[in-house]
Amino acid sequence: MNDAIRSQFPILHQQINQRPLVYLDNAATVQKPLAVLEASETYYKEVNANIHRGVHYLSRKATDAHEQARDRIARYLNAPASHEVIFTSGTTDSINLVAATLADSGKIQQGDRILISTLEHHSNIVPWQMLCKKTGAQLDIIPINDAGEWDLSEIDSLLTERTKLVAVNHVSNALGTINPIHALITKAKALGALTLIDGAQSAPHMAIDVQALGCDFYTFSGHKTYAPTGIGILWGRSEVLEMLPPWRGGGEMIKEVTFEHTTYNDLPFKYEAGTPNIEGGIALAAALDWMDQLGLDTIAQHEDSLLQQATQALLDIDGLRLYGTATNKASVVSFAIEGVHHYDLGTLIDQMGVGVRTGHHCCQPLMQRFGITGTTRASFAVYNTSEEIELLVNAVKKASMMLR
Ligand code: PLP
Repeated sequence: MNDAIRSQFPILHQQINQRPLVYLDNAATVQKPLAVLEASETYYKEVNANIHRGVHYLSRKATDAHEQARDRIARYLNAPASHEVIFTSGTTDSINLVAATLADSGKIQQGDRILISTLEHHSNIVPWQMLCKKTGAQLDIIPINDAGEWDLSEIDSLLTERTKLVAVNHVSNALGTINPIHALITKAKALGALTLIDGAQSAPHMAIDVQALGCDFYTFSGHKTYAPTGIGILWGRSEVLEMLPPWRGGGEMIKEVTFEHTTYNDLPFKYEAGTPNIEGGIALAAALDWMDQLGLDTIAQHEDSLLQQATQALLDIDGLRLYGTATNKASVVSFAIEGVHHYDLGTLIDQMGVGVRTGHHCCQPLMQRFGITGTTRASFAVYNTSEEIELLVNAVKKASMMLR
């Protein structure tokens, strides 16, 4: 099966330093299958036009394709309605939309609390700090244990009636922990708090059902789900999106404009000022079709077997410490080797053809929690193979012997 999958990714068939490329930086961005590349190309060869207000043939065709893509994404998330799916440029953009509009809504007051966790990416920290600065609210942080799992022993003092929003990731990009979000959402809802799930690392690896989760917002990025960069999704519950004010001003998000006054468009257009990434949305729908055809369970099972193999083999390396040993993990193995700087390790194994990420992974507070500046992180996608895990492990062994 793996050859059939790999043959759909032209970029993987190249040599780096006279060795086959081993691409293990999938949590940062994944490679794109032919089905997605062809969807982008077909769009530009046969459809390209600006959408929504054009009466001509191509404009209507592009509008239909754009709105069908929205419907497809709604189905992927099991969203109750397509107008709850907002096209953004990515997870960061989606979270900033919610943070900025919540701040402007007047619903967050001095003394209110926003709850996040130690595991968050900077994208799910900084926008809330900005909101706090504007409103006088304060951040509370769910701590973690040494395995990289939420420590919920003090949750009753962290999540209270004063909490207005809980914003957490579903899967940690730095450690791979799959967080028990459903229980937290349920508890938050019972206390009247809104809930936002950063799904940047879950949408690529597992089936998502926003209705079953019960959250108010779910965000993800196209480029991590086999689609191009520059496209992402904010799903929001209608009642909540309707309660929030508009964000960016411009074309498309208006109903009527005079020099004195503007009235705003309905969802989803209220949050889609300007010409959107039309091709990106269509390619994202193609990527979700591609993932569904392969089967989300098949993807998850294959990635899990690579994760188990990598975890066991890496632990055999002298002086290697794993960061993130949660019982429930997805697709990421993060580690450090005693006496070896992660940049040196990453640079040396790159020379052996193995591409991994090193550093803080946009999670500086998490690194501070472990008292380190960064890790080396290998992250897996469905096209990775067991042989590639062996190449990773051998490269890490060799490099660590050279560097220690
Ligand atoms: N949240 C998590 C958990 C991530 O892993 C990332 C990207 O790595 C982001 C947010 C930000 O995503 P983007 O850069 O696509 O906006």
